[in-house]
Formats: sequence, C-alpha cells, structure tokens
Amino acid sequence: MTADVRNVIIIGSGPAGYTAAVYAARANLAPLLFEGAVTAGGALMNTTEVENFPGFTDGIMGPDLMMSMRGQAERFGTEIVTDDVASVRLDGDVKVVTDSEGTEHRAHAVILAMGSAYRELGLPDEKRLSGHGVSWCATCDGFFFRDQDIAVVGGGDSAIEEATFLTKFARSVTIVHRREELRASKIMADRALGNDKIRFAWNSEVSAIHGQDKVSSITLRDTRTGAERDLEVTGLFVAIGHDPRNELLTQTTDAAKVALDAEGYVLAEGRSTRTNLDGVFACGDLVDHTYRQAITAAGSGCSAALDAERWLAERE
Ligand code: FAD
Repeated sequence: MTADVRNVIIIGSGPAGYTAAVYAARANLAPLLFEGAVTAGGALMNTTEVENFPGFTDGIMGPDLMMSMRGQAERFGTEIVTDDVASVRLDGDVKVVTDSEGTEHRAHAVILAMGSAYRELGLPDEKRLSGHGVSWCATCDGFFFRDQDIAVVGGGDSAIEEATFLTKFARSVTIVHRREELRASKIMADRALGNDKIRFAWNSEVSAIHGQDKVSSITLRDTRTGAERDLEVTGLFVAIGHDPRNELLTQTTDAAKVALDAEGYVLAEGRSTRTNLDGVFACGDLVDHTYRQAITAAGSGCSAALDAERWLAERE
C-alpha cells in the first residue's frame, strides 16, 4: 500500500480525465491519473481527423490531440500511470484504488472518467477501416461524406437520429436492420420512413466490409435466408449502442455503490459531477447519454475537478 493519502485520483484518460487532471494539477492537488494500459488516451486514439474540437482551425489528428492534453496535464504536475485500475473501494472516507499489480493507492476524492465503449460489429476489417469510412459518430464524421452513398447499422432511436442527420450530407443513407421493423420510437421511425434520401435494408446484417484504404462496399446477409449481396457504399456508421465502462463500479465489494441508471451510466447529481458517494465525482461519456463529444467530455472533466477541489476545500 502506498503510505500517503492523496487529494485526488483520476481514473480514465480521454478528454474528460486529462482535462480533470489539468484543472486539478493547476489547483495544486497533485493528482494521480490512471490512464489505462492498452486504451490509454481514450476513444480519440482510434480516429484520424478531429475537425470539431475548438482551437484547431485546420483540424487535428485524434492521437495528437490526446497527446497534447496528456502533456498539458503532466506539465502542471499530474502523475500519470499507464495501467488499468483493477478495483476500487469508494464508500469510505479514504478511497482505495488498486492497480493491476495489486498495489493500493488512497485518496480523499476520486474522479471517474472511464468513458464508454461503442459497440462494434465484430467484423475483421472494422478496426482497420475505422476512420477510413467506418465511423461510430455521425456528428463527428458526417461532414466527410458529402454526396456519397453510405450505410447506417442499427434500428434504435440513435441509429435513426444518425441516419437522418447524415442525409444533410450524403446522397443516400441505407439503414441496415436485422429485423423487419424499427425499434426506434414511432415519431423517429416515421421521420426516417418519410425521408426520400433514406433507404432500408430490412432483415439484413453486415457480414463483411471491403476496401483497401477506404470503405468501398459492404456485404449484407439476409437474416432469414442467409443470402448475401454487396452494397456499394463509401461510409458505414455503426449505431448499435454504447456500453459505459462501469465494471469497476459494479464489481466492487463496497456496501454502498456508485448509483447507475438503467443503462449503466453513472448518475450525477443535478448539473454537478457529484455521485451519490461523498467525494466521488464522474464525468465524460461515463455519465453522458446525450452528447458524447470530446468537447463535452473535456467540459465535464473540468467540472469534476472544480467540484472535487471545492469538496476538498470544504473538508479542511
Ligand atoms: P474516453 O475517451 O472513452 O476515455 C476513457 C479512457 O479511460 C479509456 O480509453 C481508458 O484508457 C481509460 N480507462 C477506462 N477504464 C479504465 C480503468 N479501469 N483503469 C484505467 N483507465 C481506464 N468526438 C468529437 O468531439 N469529435 C470527433 O471527431 C470524434 N470522433 C470520434 C471517433 C471515434 C472512432 C470514436 C470512437 C469517438 C469519437 N468521438 C469524437 C467521441 C469522443 O471520442 C468521446 O466523446 C470522448 O473521447 C469521450 O471522452 P471520455 O474522456 O469520457 O472517455
């Protein structure tokens, strides 16, 4: 066990975690940040151009943006550990964060910024073509698909919302759905059904993605007959849901656990980043059903650090 009790430990390294670290470090809280092992830097490490993060007139590559945030957090004295947190105990006065080697780190406050994982189709070429036609975010990437034929996989509200948004740019949007009718709410479904840029591939699933450097087509398999056909598209948006990374919170032995909503996102109190546990704050995509953008995650990371700083000050 490390002897001292820190002011704050931050778990997570996307825009939320690194921004929380910048603010906490500049407030002289000497934060310790666990950035994860394989996935350090968060979701933007897997993308190419980010054009909607303010301050970069010509855009910036996702990994460059994240390395800058990381450097900024370090510059003010954040201690960054490239390791996964294995478990947490958050319900006591002193919180205990255990790393992958079993070493315990203690702090008065903990900021949770573990993000959320976009569900993947699990196809061999999906990762390779991520950022080269395969996308999980219409708001982020729709702009790159002007006058192109693209497909959206999914049948829920968010898939329909993404597809409808993408019609602002694309020539056509084919919604690929495993069933014969949409799961989306009636109003959303009706809007999509009435949009003449939207086509439907019912009872279909994507069985392969093709393209050398960029997506050039996908193979659709009929979920009833197994018959396959190719669809020429240059973009594939995967909109089959997100899983907040809450395993640390659900697997803890704590008697009192961090409250989650029905979909597993951490519940924050009102407009703050406070959770139901005293001294535990949460930010970024781990709490956010709605916006899920780098800038909103960074904004809520800032809020979490300020909330933690004020909470610590009140205890003195
Ligand atoms: P994340 O970025 O998901 O980071 C969380 C990180 O915390 C994880 O990666 C991991 O390293 C770490 N972590 C998790 N669990 C643990 C643990 N147990 N121990 C230690 N560390 C842990 N948004 C935009 O605004 N513009 C874009 O152009 C854009 N493009 C995108 C492209 C892709 C391919 C994807 C997937 C997303 C894109 N987004 C974009 C969305 C944006 O990336 C997210 O909204 C944002 O990264 C969320 O930030 P976050 O800090 O909450 O979490």
